[in-house]
Amino acid sequence: MRILIDMIKLRSVMVENPALALPEAYFYSTVNQNGLKTIRELATFRYTCRKCEDAPCISVCPADALEKDGDGLINRYTNLCVSCKSCVTICPFGTMMTDFFKHHRNRDLFYDLKDENELKEFIAKCPDGTVSLTDNDESPKDNVYQLNDKVLIKEYLYTTEKQ
Ligand code: SF4
Ligand code: SF4
Repeated sequence: MRILIDMIKLRSVMVENPALALPEAYFYSTVNQNGLKTIRELATFRYTCRKCEDAPCISVCPADALEKDGDGLINRYTNLCVSCKSCVTICPFGTMMTDFFKHHRNRDLFYDLKDENELKEFIAKCPDGTVSLTDNDESPKDNVYQLNDKVLIKEYLYTTEKQ
């Protein structure tokens, strides 16, 4: 069983209601020991970000909180980020949702997906149809990609190749 987070639907919900406080899900991985990494943030940088070569988001960050990893993925050091949102403003592709850093210090909105009760609560608190449980696997033809062994993300991928 995996959790499926529909980033496409979530984004349209946020556009319709920018003031909405979305619940966030997280897990700690061995790769990210630098603070709480929410699934939405990991998915955004992996699937929505265009991976700009000059990465204006990194240059504009006053806290040196952003950097690229070896695969060109942006990583935000949550312990350095001061939530100024300069990166959100300068990103030419609107990669980050408007509320991306809003809950930076509000732990009440965060749910640990490793805990069964918190997982259920997270799904119940998310906007209708945006998060569900599934036995399905990754399915690129349906825009569904595997973020890790527990999480699937539905998102349109940016590509310069002809489909
Ligand atoms: S919100 Fe500000 S401090 Fe945080 S990563 Fe973006 S530019 Fe850097
Ligand atoms: S500016 Fe936006 S699209 Fe470009 S690397 Fe940064 S977050 Fe990604």
